[in-house]
Amino acid sequence: MTWSPLLNPPEFPAPEYDRLGSRLGAVLETANDVVVVPGEAIVALEAVATDLGAPGYPVLNVVTSPYGKLFGQWLESSGSSVLNLFSTPGLPVTIADIEEAVDRFSPRAIAIVHGEAASGIVNPLAEIAGFARSRGLLTIVDAVASVGAEPLPVDDWGLDIVVIGPQKALLGPAGISAVAVSQTGWAALAANAAPRADLSSVSLVDIKRDWLDSDRSVIPGTPAPLELWALDAALARFEAIGLQESINAHQTAKRAVRAMVRSLGLELWAADDDASALTTTVVVPVGIDPRDLARTARGSFGALVSTGVGPGAERLVRVNHTAVAASFGSVAANVVGLLAALRRHGFAGPDRGALDAVVAAYAAAP
Ligand SMILES: *Cc1c(COP(=O)(O)O)cnc(C)c1O
Repeated sequence: MTWSPLLNPPEFPAPEYDRLGSRLGAVLETANDVVVVPGEAIVALEAVATDLGAPGYPVLNVVTSPYGKLFGQWLESSGSSVLNLFSTPGLPVTIADIEEAVDRFSPRAIAIVHGEAASGIVNPLAEIAGFARSRGLLTIVDAVASVGAEPLPVDDWGLDIVVIGPQKALLGPAGISAVAVSQTGWAALAANAAPRADLSSVSLVDIKRDWLDSDRSVIPGTPAPLELWALDAALARFEAIGLQESINAHQTAKRAVRAMVRSLGLELWAADDDASALTTTVVVPVGIDPRDLARTARGSFGALVSTGVGPGAERLVRVNHTAVAASFGSVAANVVGLLAALRRHGFAGPDRGALDAVVAAYAAAP
């Protein structure tokens, strides 16, 4: 018999489970309810769409990746009419496009992904939230790939429903997720009058009933204790670093990688303000196959470089600077690895300055 710490994990205490909600709320800078969903973030997203979607509840759904597309499909399955607003592939949506679509479609809500790891962009969420508020529209945000790396002051921005997962910048487990819900958000989720089963695994309303509105002595739905312990540990690690410090580390990593790419005369895919702090996407020079480049960077130099994902990302490679990879050592190693791989594939850009750019970005960091 092999002993393993993963076997027979101790039960996760209900008071600690209750504290997870407020600890996650602190990460999101919100006093709203935060419910823990016993499934990966994609389950939480489906739960939101399933509760919210209903005939007579039109939603403007911004699509900047496959996640957004799926969200629109779930809403439609629940009876909503959905206007999918597609950005230029691989690029953020513009506020002008959103305004035009809202005027044309008169939705009750806007759904959007905040940061996109696949293409390395962030959508202009603060502006969109301000616009949504001015029109009385509910906001639903997939912040899985932005929480902990991008500023996300949920209450300041007045976001109603925000879905997060710990598995990206929080460096936590992938099998559990959370949703912050405002009072307006709860009202919208609960308004769906369709006939339903006594309990659904994809319903935040049921989690609210069975946990938030209970005496909170029994954790509902028997979530896997290993996931809860892992979330607890991920939050403890994150709290030790600090929210602002984590955001700063990701923003510095972003600046450093972008400075290095520029110094080589290469093209960055996203503009500074549109760029994700988790990954930097680089347009691969003509004549080099992005897949070969990523393979060499990874295989020969151990650099966290992969190809872009999805429409618009075919000519891109991504440098990952998420969580522990947002550290100086990791960023330095990854950009040098990318440069070495570029050279091996015949890239003949400037010889000097690349590392100076990284050093300068870190020397000037907060
Ligand atoms: C990673 C990610 C998710 C979650 O996907 P999982 O399959 O649960 O890991 C959702 N939305 C976005 C934008 C993501 O980057």
